[in-house]
Amino acid sequence: MSPRPKSASEQAVRRADAAAPRRLVVDLRGVANLARQIRSPNRDARPDGAEVTLLVVHGISLPPGSFGGDAIARLFTNRLDPSAHPSYGTIAHLRVSAHFLIRRNGALVQFVHCTERAWHAGTSSWNGRERCNDFSIGVELEGADDIAYEAGQYAMLARLVKAIRRRYPIADTVGHSDIAPGRKTDPGPAFDWARLNRLMAARSG
Ligand SMILES: [Zn+2]
Repeated sequence: MSPRPKSASEQAVRRADAAAPRRLVVDLRGVANLARQIRSPNRDARPDGAEVTLLVVHGISLPPGSFGGDAIARLFTNRLDPSAHPSYGTIAHLRVSAHFLIRRNGALVQFVHCTERAWHAGTSSWNGRERCNDFSIGVELEGADDIAYEAGQYAMLARLVKAIRRRYPIADTVGHSDIAPGRKTDPGPAFDWARLNRLMAARSG
């Protein structure tokens, strides 16, 4: 028995489905459906009753200024070899993580569920509230303070921020440098906030 021939309209619908990017959704457990999942042990419970109201944008590259490779994922899973690069000796022992990483090509990786506390902000405060890890979601962009971020990274970040906002009452989206001034500079002057805001205002995503 041969399959029933598809009508022209059915075939058109199938082509449209294949072409359209799937909608990015953060589910009730705080898992993003389109993210590659790598679980970081560097996480714990948020304080009782803590609402997620802050989104923190970071920039990171390992070694600093070079892109690609798996060193960021290694750092966030406590598997960074301190001898692999001269700069790793001082950071390999750190117990850090972020909820998300957006690679240079726009690919999304998730290390910590949004319902959990990731360890990305360090000593920090926003609007007079300290310990931003308690009430924030951290998104790392693979990049450096003074190297332009990629179009695909802005596009994915805008989709991610929209998906997070549909799930949590985010009041502010800020840079790491905004919550730890004098201590942190990322995502740096290279990050174009106006570009993110334009993408956020666009209807799609
Ligand atoms: Zn940072």
